Amino acid sequence: MGSGNAIRGSRVGAGPMGEAERGEAAPRVRVSFWCANMHETRPSFASDAAVPELWDCPRCGLPAGQDEQAPPAPPKNEPYKTHLAYVKERRSDKDGKAILEEALERLRNTKSPW
Ligand SMILES: [Zn+2]
Repeated sequence: MGSGNAIRGSRVGAGPMGEAERGEAAPRVRVSFWCANMHETRPSFASDAAVPELWDCPRCGLPAGQDEQAPPAPPKNEPYKTHLAYVKERRSDKDGKAILEEALERLRNTKSPW
């Protein structure tokens, strides 16, 4: 009974692992992903982290896979899902920008009389 406990998922498909970056605590591996529009993305991952099967293409938002010959098909039902995730991710960045703009505005409004 119950003997299907294989560890899977952290296989780095291609690429030489010999490019050791000296001085870095965590060596990183670069993995190529291709989306259905043939955009190549090459994010890097910590070598001890599991590389995800899919990656969102930063150019068009489609899911990208590691197999150049067979990129994942674009999802048709939820086109805004990745966009939403993107917006969520950018939120803090946007807040920072808003604060900066507000400060600039205040600077402009309070012109020194001298
Ligand atoms: Zn793309």
